[in-house]
Amino acid sequence: MKIVLLGAPGAGKGSQAVKIVEHYKIPHISTGDAFRDNIARGTQIGVYAKSFMDKGQLVPDDVVVKIVAERLSKDDCKRGFLLDGFPRTINQAVELDKITGIDVALNLTADPEIVMKRLTGRRSCKCGALYHIATYDKETCEKCGGTLYIRDDDKPETIKKRLDIYAQTIDPILEFYEAKGVLITLNGDRTVAEVFEDVRRILDDID
Ligand code: ADP
Ligand code: ZN
Repeated sequence: MKIVLLGAPGAGKGSQAVKIVEHYKIPHISTGDAFRDNIARGTQIGVYAKSFMDKGQLVPDDVVVKIVAERLSKDDCKRGFLLDGFPRTINQAVELDKITGIDVALNLTADPEIVMKRLTGRRSCKCGALYHIATYDKETCEKCGGTLYIRDDDKPETIKKRLDIYAQTIDPILEFYEAKGVLITLNGDRTVAEVFEDVRRILDDID
């Protein structure tokens, strides 16, 4: 099962991704996580990516595509994978298509106001778990005990910039997958469990 997860920052991609990979036992490939991991390890890619991420800008395509291509070449991706946060530009979609086709592009929509609330109160864990201060007030992760943190780019000004860039880049990507007949759009303005119910129904049909 080869899945691409699309949606604005805060539409709930990360939360659905965690549930999808748990349920379908496929690797979770998050370009955002890959960059944050590189930043934490102080790699050259990390230093380079951070200069864009902190401003809410996209990391240049060549770097992103290289990371994804390397990851997809690993054996554990043969059975399928979940791409989260990639493709983010039409060029990335075209490059991905040269590497492999996909079975479904799940597009999560969300109201901009809800998205803003989700992102400004978000707490992240290294393990991929996501929390919101409105529903979870502890400082450590329920799953792994890690210390929760606020992402550098989850500041109001940067969130605004990320949402603007998303709005400017998404249409051709949606058209690309629509033309291939693999695009499915879902309303992300619901609870994680509610959205996942829909996601599961869709993915079970494809499997
Ligand atoms: P979100 O979807 O909430 O913005 P991500 O973790 O997916 O969070 O991405 C965080 C940042 O990492 C992006 O704002 C961007 O700078 C960079 N990034 C992640 N994926 C890509 C990508 N496919 N292309 C370009 N930049 C990316
Ligand atoms: Zn954790």
